[in-house]
Amino acid sequence: MDFLLNDEQKMLVETLKTMGEREKFKERAMEIDRTGEFPYDLLTKYSGMGLLGMTLSPEYGGGGQPAINAILAIEELAKFSPMIASPVFESNVGPVRVIDLFGTVEQKKAIIPGVCAGERSVSVCMTEPEAGSDLTALSTKAVEDGDSYILNGRKIFITGGGHASHYMVYTRFGEISGYKGIGGLLVEKGALGFTFGKQEEFLGLRGMPSCELIFEDVRVPKENVVIKAGDFSKLMWSFDIERCGNAAMCLGTAGGALREAIAYAQTRHAFGRPICEFQAIQFMTVDMAMKLEAARLLVYKAVAGAGQGLPSIYEASMGKCYANEMVIEVTNTAMQIFGGYGYSKEYPVERMLRDARAWGVAGGTVQMLRNTMASVLYGRRFDQRRGK
Ligand SMILES: Cc1cc2nc3c(=O)[nH]c(=O)nc-3n(C[C@H](O)[C@H](O)[C@H](O)COP(=O)(O)OP(=O)(O)OC[C@H]3O[C@@H](n4cnc5c(N)ncnc54)[C@H](O)[C@@H]3O)c2cc1C
Repeated sequence: MDFLLNDEQKMLVETLKTMGEREKFKERAMEIDRTGEFPYDLLTKYSGMGLLGMTLSPEYGGGGQPAINAILAIEELAKFSPMIASPVFESNVGPVRVIDLFGTVEQKKAIIPGVCAGERSVSVCMTEPEAGSDLTALSTKAVEDGDSYILNGRKIFITGGGHASHYMVYTRFGEISGYKGIGGLLVEKGALGFTFGKQEEFLGLRGMPSCELIFEDVRVPKENVVIKAGDFSKLMWSFDIERCGNAAMCLGTAGGALREAIAYAQTRHAFGRPICEFQAIQFMTVDMAMKLEAARLLVYKAVAGAGQGLPSIYEASMGKCYANEMVIEVTNTAMQIFGGYGYSKEYPVERMLRDARAWGVAGGTVQMLRNTMASVLYGRRFDQRRGK
């Protein structure tokens, strides 16, 4: 068991930390939150640094690095904000990873080099107005028609919606019911009959494009099938790496909040002393650090076990669930240490708390993750549908 980062990983983390300070990412994060504008210019910068697709296959332009390196990069950048880390997240743990693992050679050639260059991106499209946690109830349908499928349905809360070049749509193929009928189809932006609804306005994660997708008789060539009906487990399995990316966002946000709280507690005075000299503040700070470190160990363990492949569903679910709840507690405590200024937009901790709230819903709720872990612990599947 090795808990140490190697020299390459240490250098990666140090480089991103220094770049963030040099390029004033802290101020940039506040600006993104204020304007709600995604930092598209970072795509070119990150591509030049080899961060986009750093874990994807080298034969298609990826970096071929282990998944843990991307997790470290996401964590470090998310200390500034999830938006600053988002291009590394999308290009390494997003649905492009599904294409890298299970797609055809033609699909890989068409998508991966563009993702690594920051010119293409892929959104994951699972959630529907009537099917979120209950994903196998999804009603988006692809019906065979010659050498194409005709796609109809609606998706909601799709990150990257309207901006991504490609959409990995979880759909039912034909009339096959339940999970056995579900697979993944790649739909290109601009396809006839494919439109976008209004952009969502969320509590946090401001700047992240998110909207409804509407498919009305969209003709999709059969060669765009990435995961065929019957291989639903491959879709869910590959989603476990995205769950670890989600958890890395939490590690980053919590790490950023801890950094801010420690700095503030040394400069803010009360009763003639810096507030860090009060034991109450010290204990709050230590509790933040302890919870963050516990989450970090769970997440790193899940990802390190994956190597260049995918983590176990149990470890990924545990890491995500713990990190999702940890980041809310840690950012909330940071706000307390800041007193009234913590509640003000003058400092970043109020934004961090708003951002923190998203992760325990996005990518699967903490309740659904607990269902998954319970199945593993009891060695049996608990059907959530009554009477079945
Ligand atoms: C910021 C953000 C980004 C997102 N990005 C994407 C994206 O890119 N692509 C995408 O497809 N989706 C995305 N989503 C949607 C997200 O995956 C869903 O919101 C989530 O899976 C929950 O589904 P739901 O909203 O329909 O809630 P519901 O499924 O209606 O759940 C409501 C509540 O009931 C609980 N619940 C439901 N069933 C059970 C059960 N069996 N046991 C215990 N509790 C249960 C849930 O835990 C939750 O608390 C995003 C959401 C957010 C907030």
